[in-house]
Amino acid sequence: MIEEPTSGRARQLPVFHCPYCGDEELTPHEDGWRCGACLRAFSVRLIATGVQE
Ligand SMILES: [Zn+2]
Repeated sequence: MIEEPTSGRARQLPVFHCPYCGDEELTPHEDGWRCGACLRAFSVRLIATGVQE
C-alpha cells in the first residue's frame, strides 16, 4: 500500500463510461477520449475543485 501525497491536487483519473451512451469502450484520443460505441470524441475538463457555495 503506497501512501499518496495529499497535496490537494486531484489526480487525472481515466473516464470509465461514455457520458453520451454509457459504453465502456473508451480509448485515448488526442486530448480526451473516444467512445468505440458511438464514435464520439470528448474531453474531460475540471472546472473547479473544492468550491463551496
Ligand atoms: Zn459513447
